[in-house]
Amino acid sequence: MDRNEIVQRREAFRSLARCYADCATRWLDDADERSAIYAALDLRFALEALAYDLASDYLEELGDPAALEWQAPKLIERLIGIDPYAGSTVYLSKVDPETGEKITVASDVRMDLKKLKIRYQKLNSALHAPTIAKVESGKPRSMDNLRHECRNILKIVEKVLGSQMMTGGVIHHQMFVMNCACGTVVKRRTDPLFFHRDDPSKGSAAITVRCWKCKNSVQISLSGDNYEVSPNVFGFDCPHEGCGKENSIWEKDLADGFEMDCAHCGSSILMSAALRPVVAEIR
Ligand SMILES: [Zn+2]
Ligand SMILES: [Zn+2]
Repeated sequence: MDRNEIVQRREAFRSLARCYADCATRWLDDADERSAIYAALDLRFALEALAYDLASDYLEELGDPAALEWQAPKLIERLIGIDPYAGSTVYLSKVDPETGEKITVASDVRMDLKKLKIRYQKLNSALHAPTIAKVESGKPRSMDNLRHECRNILKIVEKVLGSQMMTGGVIHHQMFVMNCACGTVVKRRTDPLFFHRDDPSKGSAAITVRCWKCKNSVQISLSGDNYEVSPNVFGFDCPHEGCGKENSIWEKDLADGFEMDCAHCGSSILMSAALRPVVAEIR
């Protein structure tokens, strides 16, 4: 996808977020107590539009758009999984030729994605009728609290929309492409590895690339200009008497209750996380 296409998509979502933020501002200026509910609804839309705005820069890595989780919190989880820095503000700096001082000239303000998820859920819970328990408690819902929360969220939305620049489709280091065994082509930008190679205090020495379809993952690191790839697979010995031979399991399957058969004796093995990461139980 070329830079123009990414920027156009981002601009479209930003315009939407702008409209929702303006509507929310009008609702919050309205004296009617119930207006806070409508402000919450518009702000929820604004947060969604900003999540999709950010996701537009990751469409190649997010996989098939038709299969995307278009619910904002789920999409945000995916974005954090792809790029832990996706929610970090991007600064454009220049160096003063006389003093050598680094000066920020513009920034692309991003929202902390983990907080975005919490805020989204808070707004969501305001958009329901009071529950039976709430009604029976005799305590009416506080519209003042909701209005206060809405004002806080609006401030953050305005800060993002006030960015002086918008990055998108910028030149990245090479893309890691993996043909997963499940048939999915998985793509991932690998900038943190190159940042780390040039300055070990930045980026990361290894990143996890997970297939968005089957959830299997590999760890990649750099060896010179080449990638070193190791599947996130662990070995363990079959617990059945008379076997004890080594089996392997994907990291994503190291979960309480996962069942598999020993590759050697065919006996059933049940994963349990109760005592230690992998305990096999004989049944
Ligand atoms: Zn896969
Ligand atoms: Zn066995």
